Amino acid sequence: DSFQSANLRKYVVENILKSGYKKPTPIQKHAIPIIMAGRDLMGCAQTGSGKTAAFLLPIINTLLQDPRDLQTGEHGAQPQVVIVSPTRELTLQIFNEARKFSHGSVLKIAVAYGGTAVRHQGDSIARGCHILVATPGRLNDFVDRGRVSFESIRFVVLDEADRMLDMGFMPNVEKMMGHPTMVPLKERQTLMFSATFPEDIQHLAGRFLNNYLFVAV
Ligand code: AMP
Repeated sequence: DSFQSANLRKYVVENILKSGYKKPTPIQKHAIPIIMAGRDLMGCAQTGSGKTAAFLLPIINTLLQDPRDLQTGEHGAQPQVVIVSPTRELTLQIFNEARKFSHGSVLKIAVAYGGTAVRHQGDSIARGCHILVATPGRLNDFVDRGRVSFESIRFVVLDEADRMLDMGFMPNVEKMMGHPTMVPLKERQTLMFSATFPEDIQHLAGRFLNNYLFVAV
C-alpha cells in the first residue's frame, strides 16, 4: 500500500515522492502491478483518480529498467510509447507529468497536438523521443507526413477512450492501431482507460487489447 512496496526503481520512487504523492490512489494500487507484470489493461477511472500516474509510472520504470536505443527509419522517428488523449489540455497534462516523473533521466518526451504550427513539435519528435503524447488527429498528420512510425512501439495508451469516441476520433485511433508499421498486438502492451464502459468501448477493448485485465475504481 505504498509506492516503496510497488517494486519500482528507487529513482522513480524518488521522483514520485518529490511530486508530493505519499501513497498510491486505488487505480494506481491496482494498475501498477498489472502493467509491471506485462499485461494489457482496461482501466475504468475518472479524471482525478490518478490514472495518469497509474500508467506513466510503470511505463517509465520499464523504459529505465530495460532501455532500448532510439531508432529512426525511412518512415520517421520511432517512439517506444505513444499515448493518445482527446484534448490539447489533457495531452499537455500527461506530457508534463511524464516530464516530472522522468526528470533527470535519459528519457525524451515529446508532445503533439493540433491548433499550433507543426514545426516546433516536429523538430522535437525528429530529435528522437521515447514517449510521444499526442492528440489523435495531429499524430496522424505526422504519420501521414512520414515523420512518425510505430515499429519500435512497446506501449500504446488510449486515454479517455469514451471521450475520444464521442469526439469522433476513433477513425484516427483505428488508423494508428492498424497502421502497417504498428508492432503486433502480442508484441506490445496496450493500456486503455475510460470513465465509462459501454458496449462500443467493450468492443474496442476486445479488438485493441490482448487478453486484458479489467480494473474499475
Ligand atoms: P489524474 O486523474 O491523473 O488527472 O490525476 C489527478 C490529480 O491527482 C493530478 O493533479 C495528480 O497530480 C494528482 N495525483 C495523482 N496521483 C496522486 C497520489 N498518489 N497522491 C496525490 N496526488 C496524486
